[in-house]
Amino acid sequence: KRIISYNHSDNGKPNIVILGTGWGSISLLKNIDSSKYNIIIISPRNYFLFTPLLPSCPVGTVDEKSIMEPVVNFASKKKGDVTYYEAEATDIDPSNNSITFKSVNNATSLSGELKIKPNTSDLASVHYDYLVVGVGATPNTFGIPGVEEHGFFLKEIPDSKKIRNKFVECVEKANLLPKGDPERKKLLTIVVVGGGPTGVETAGELSDFIEQDLKHIMPNIVDELQILLLEAMPNVLNMFETKLTKYAAKVLSETAIDLRTSTAVTKVEDNFLIAKTKKGESVKEENIPYGMLIWATGNKQRPIVQSLAKKIPDQSDVRRGLVVNENLLVKGSKNIFAIGDCSNAKLAPTAQVAHQEAEYLAKVFSKIASKPSFTEQLSKSDVSRVPAVFESVGIKPFNYIHLGALAYLGSEKAIANVTYGKRNLYSGGGLFTFFVWRVLYVSMILSVRSRFKVCADWLKIAFFGRDCFKEL
Ligand code: FAD
Ligand code: NAD
Repeated sequence: KRIISYNHSDNGKPNIVILGTGWGSISLLKNIDSSKYNIIIISPRNYFLFTPLLPSCPVGTVDEKSIMEPVVNFASKKKGDVTYYEAEATDIDPSNNSITFKSVNNATSLSGELKIKPNTSDLASVHYDYLVVGVGATPNTFGIPGVEEHGFFLKEIPDSKKIRNKFVECVEKANLLPKGDPERKKLLTIVVVGGGPTGVETAGELSDFIEQDLKHIMPNIVDELQILLLEAMPNVLNMFETKLTKYAAKVLSETAIDLRTSTAVTKVEDNFLIAKTKKGESVKEENIPYGMLIWATGNKQRPIVQSLAKKIPDQSDVRRGLVVNENLLVKGSKNIFAIGDCSNAKLAPTAQVAHQEAEYLAKVFSKIASKPSFTEQLSKSDVSRVPAVFESVGIKPFNYIHLGALAYLGSEKAIANVTYGKRNLYSGGGLFTFFVWRVLYVSMILSVRSRFKVCADWLKIAFFGRDCFKEL
């Protein structure tokens, strides 16, 4: 296939290519001094997604559009040359410092005339002086048979819509069947696999919708609707202290959620799944018929990350992401940084980590810009000398400050552990923590427009209930 090469290098400034428009990449764009570089963003998703409120979307507690912010809204506030390609990066060539990307749907130059012609069929390539990989990760099925075909994930906006459609379809179909019909029971069994925060929050939101809205619309259905939350470990939400995980299990048991811990799903068929529950030394196997299956068991790396790792000798084990050094530089490379879920800095794959890494990287690029000969010096130096070259311009190692964790449980109850590094500032669960959760989430949203829309959604459901329409 023909590869069109796009030139961004005629003004003498170094090119920084940023892959992705998620937590890491957009936080970097917001913070970087773009007047010193040509900034080129490549991502198939033309908006930033505020993932912490994604579990609220399938049932309409928060509208999907409220947590999406177009990339141009961030990019248009920047000085200098910023170009956005709505395209998927397919290959990184570290020996030639180039990126190949495909299916360019759109391209936006935010600082004047567009010098390129978008083309939807050909591959395109661009040269980088520095590359920031922020492509995130993708849901992990651990190779369990049937999950890809029959499971629903919750990672992106289209996933939320698919879950809503399937849930409403199950309820409507069941409503047409007589009580006691096994098919009706099956359709009204919603199984959520994974008791991490994604699974718990999604189950909690579904339970809220059933208790607060569906009860009034379809009163004959709600008593039969069952949400099964299956978790392989003995506890849910294992990133919290035991006191809070125990409290979470108690709150979940008081709702429409049937929590089963020490229960691992091993196989998924079209209409039922197989789960194994451990009790002491014994293991009980059970066939569970389901109407809808939501799969939330964590992440695995994307193919582009795996293929880059194969090209760099120091990256022999990429399961947890591209291994980075104390400056977030991909080990074995001189000019490729990795941030967020696609990187392995021995930190959890969270928005909080990606955001802090991006803020740090923005400072690194300011230091680099303060020494005009830096880029040339770096390209001539040996890989083993790279940390010393960084140190020579006063770049300090990345220091992560853990600010805690929050999770919504349903029934207007949340758990929170607010910290500043090792200092514990607040730890608790219940209604008050639910308000703390809301205030902190709103403050984390990256744009004023989105903050306003989320608050308006919460106000709207307090008066009028949720919008949970099929196909919308
Ligand atoms: P992402 O935000 O996933 O962004 C990746 C970007 O890369 C996307 O724009 C994608 O389109 C793009 N991309 C993908 N492939 C390519 C390619 N080939 N070329 C170019 N671009 C590509 N964390 C918290 O700290 N708190 C929370 O409350 C929280 N809640 C969550 C709720 C849910 C439902 C989920 C799924 C996650 C949640 N997380 C939370 C985790 C958090 O969302 C991730 O850790 C965070 O998004 C990681 O940021 P990132 O930039 O690495 O990746
Ligand atoms: P996770 O990795 O945190 O949890 C997945 C859970 O699935 C684990 O508890 C695991 O034991 C369980 N599991 C795995 N295989 C299973 C099987 N076959 N059967 C039953 N259970 C199985 O995944 P997540 O919840 O998607 O979160 C991913 C990342 O995003 C984490 O770092 C998390 O902290 C972050 N996140 C944070 C929040 C928040 O802070 N509120 C919300 C969502 C996600």
